Amino acid sequence: QLPHRVVDVAKVKMMPASKPVQKEKELPPQPPPLIYEPPSFDRKDGAVYQVGKILGKGGFAVCYEGYLPTKSGNKRKYALKVVRSKMPTKMEQKFQTELQIHSKMKQQNIVQFLRAFSFQSCTYLVLELCPNGSLMDMVKRRKGLTEPEVRFYSVQIAGAIKYMHGKGIIHRDLKMGNIFLDKDMNAKIGDFGLAALLVTGKDMQTIRRTTLCGTPNYIAPEILEKGKKGHDHMVDIWSLGIIMFAMLTSKPPFQSSTTDEIYRRAKNRDYEWPKSDKYISEEAKEVVATMLQEAELRPDPDTIVQHDFFHAGYIPTSAEMTTKLRDCPPEGD
Ligand code: ADP
Repeated sequence: QLPHRVVDVAKVKMMPASKPVQKEKELPPQPPPLIYEPPSFDRKDGAVYQVGKILGKGGFAVCYEGYLPTKSGNKRKYALKVVRSKMPTKMEQKFQTELQIHSKMKQQNIVQFLRAFSFQSCTYLVLELCPNGSLMDMVKRRKGLTEPEVRFYSVQIAGAIKYMHGKGIIHRDLKMGNIFLDKDMNAKIGDFGLAALLVTGKDMQTIRRTTLCGTPNYIAPEILEKGKKGHDHMVDIWSLGIIMFAMLTSKPPFQSSTTDEIYRRAKNRDYEWPKSDKYISEEAKEVVATMLQEAELRPDPDTIVQHDFFHAGYIPTSAEMTTKLRDCPPEGD
């Protein structure tokens, strides 16, 4: 039923190191107020989505709220991710990877992929709605999170990474901007456009060669090196280390004005914890350091959450996070 062609993810081409400059002409046109999903085997009458407000724009997709009427007369809300059905080859490959991999994921901290269909000249992905923006928006607004909040999100992200790796999927582009917040402020990993199926043998080299993708701040040094074998999935653990550092301090550790400088600093593990701004516990610093080691020394998700950091203090419940974060001051305060 999915309108996708099978692609060999190992053939996904090199992506630029930073997010491509957004080209408006490649973004899809404004959709009509009603979108018709054609009939399919599990929805014989098709469906009609009402298009709501815009949620955000990506490199080649625009997301809108979408509503479907329910039998009880209510509306169910979704995120409708729209792309042009005909895209430049590079974007087409990224999108096919995303469809193929994301549609197979089902875990509470991964944005749920519901369906995909074509209407007029666009392809629509129907996704679980995350109405509270991204983790990056929140960390910026709050100028860093408290340690209990960092525990809360790190446990959720580690759980999602464990699930993906268990299915042989490496995400490769984990960053705060790709982690969305659902209505209860839970973290949901989205955007599988750069993910790869972990395969063994010769193809592994192909994947490594085609892996110069993602965002420089979050890129593990071994992606830039050759000859390291069998720890490819550990790039996601590196990214989790960067995300934790950024949640604690509000900046990624190797932040620099040029991409080359970011890479150089990452290779040398050249980072410093801020001195005076805010108290950060030794346990927090330690657990982040374990994730920023060489790939083969990085802990797996289970080992991460067993670290003292996660037992040295409180982990809020989802309900507490919702109440507290709703009370947090609006942007600019
Ligand atoms: P691209 O793959 O082109 O980078 P994204 O997946 O990042 O596109 O989506 C673009 C923007 O749409 C995101 O930055 C975010 O603001 C919004 N968005 C994406 N998915 C969701 C979702 N499930 N719920 C709410 N907003 C979303």
